[in-house]
Amino acid sequence: MIATALVGVSASPAAAYCRSGMTKWNSTSSAKTIGANTTFPSGLRNGLNGGLKQWNRSSSALRYNSPVYTGGWQIYAFRASYSYTSLMGSAPGYAATQVSGRTHNGGTLYLSNRFTWVNASQNIGQGRADVQTVVVHEVGHFTGLAHPWPGPCTDGSAYTAAEKGSVMTTINTGTRRALNSDDIAGVRAIY
Ligand SMILES: [Zn+2]
Repeated sequence: MIATALVGVSASPAAAYCRSGMTKWNSTSSAKTIGANTTFPSGLRNGLNGGLKQWNRSSSALRYNSPVYTGGWQIYAFRASYSYTSLMGSAPGYAATQVSGRTHNGGTLYLSNRFTWVNASQNIGQGRADVQTVVVHEVGHFTGLAHPWPGPCTDGSAYTAAEKGSVMTTINTGTRRALNSDDIAGVRAIY
């Protein structure tokens, strides 16, 4: 056989995801269960579940369970809260991780009660957010992924087409509910 050099073949842009400054889950020994209050709005529940489950990928050890709704939700290390925190500024969602060293063991996923939530095209400037579009992005932060842009991302990768199409790049209008190749490469690399 003749060895053939693969001239011009470069690293896949699908692996350009950004991890700058992010922590990962401290363990994947059990699936992660997010707890939410029984008062958590019913209209947000399908999107919460869908955004979590997007990150369950067969070649990754990380798993997210369906949410549990209970009056005792605050005992969960991983929580979903329909409320506003100043940490989120004017954003519809925020991932507040409970960090210990270089990993985290839980935290709170905030969905702002200052937004109108829909399961349809969003318009962030007009205060209207699509549930799964926001949740899948915030769960991406819990998973260990950062924004590829702006920042800029400091991991040395360019802002590739795959990154631009990832759920970790926020969009102002429309929906972006499903992982793309860049997001999938990220979760598989981390776990
Ligand atoms: Zn974000």
